[in-house]
Amino acid sequence: MKKKVVSVMLCAAMTAAVLAGCGSSSAETVSEDTSAAAEETEDVAAEETAETAEADTEESAGGTLVMGTNAEFPPYEYYEGQEVVGIDAEMAAAVAEKLGMELKIEDMAFDSLIPALSSGKVDIVAAGMTVTEDRLASVNFSDTYATGIQAIIVTEDSDIASADDLVGKTIGVQQGTTGDLYATDVEGATIERYAKGMEAVQSLSQGKIDAVIIDNEPANVFVSEVEGLKILDEAFATEDYAVAVAKDNEELLEQVNTALAELKEDGTLQAIVDKYITAE
Ligand code: GLN
Repeated sequence: MKKKVVSVMLCAAMTAAVLAGCGSSSAETVSEDTSAAAEETEDVAAEETAETAEADTEESAGGTLVMGTNAEFPPYEYYEGQEVVGIDAEMAAAVAEKLGMELKIEDMAFDSLIPALSSGKVDIVAAGMTVTEDRLASVNFSDTYATGIQAIIVTEDSDIASADDLVGKTIGVQQGTTGDLYATDVEGATIERYAKGMEAVQSLSQGKIDAVIIDNEPANVFVSEVEGLKILDEAFATEDYAVAVAKDNEELLEQVNTALAELKEDGTLQAIVDKYITAE
């Protein structure tokens, strides 16, 4: 993907000077074909050529796999000091290792993740991201690696006992998540959108909202950290988590799927999950 972008940049910079091959040939071919032309072009183009060479060296040495995530989602991704840890972080590191690459994690707002993939800022998204029809219109998803449940959190003394009781209530969600979508569908409900799931939970504990809809594993963590809250037995929906990859990067999608299959097969994935989630 990186190579393709670089080729396009070179093609654009060298316009008429470019020999045949822009668009379909690899970056290496383009650099070779145009090395003579580069001497005659502006400094900018020459600089770009140098950058291309640098990028190629990096990639041939394995390169970096950039993972986008929103590190506010324990136990899948959260900070331990300066470091993002969690199931997704370790799974992605294991995938990167299989690919002979080094993992780099970029933390950003949840609703920036798909745009970051599409613009090439990140190579994969691993963020407890649910596979949905809407998202499939903009990205591809790997095979699924975990299941999530949309849980409802309320205060211990709440009169809300089921999803039906949410009608007309004020519901807190993390912006852009599937919890946000479900809440938006609740009849007569007012939706309060937060950047972080934990902020919604704190708001609930302060009596500012009536309930929070959020994935069950972070729900368990948040409820264990904030007093006076409980998770309803009745959940909203069961969902599949998968790694998202840009639409035009079929090759990486296949590599991720192969790596995931191996990590499932040899027990690595389960070991990572067991490290972060203790079975009840
Ligand atoms: N699983 C939810 C979604 O995909 C929430 C993910 C998250 O907040 N990281 O929308």
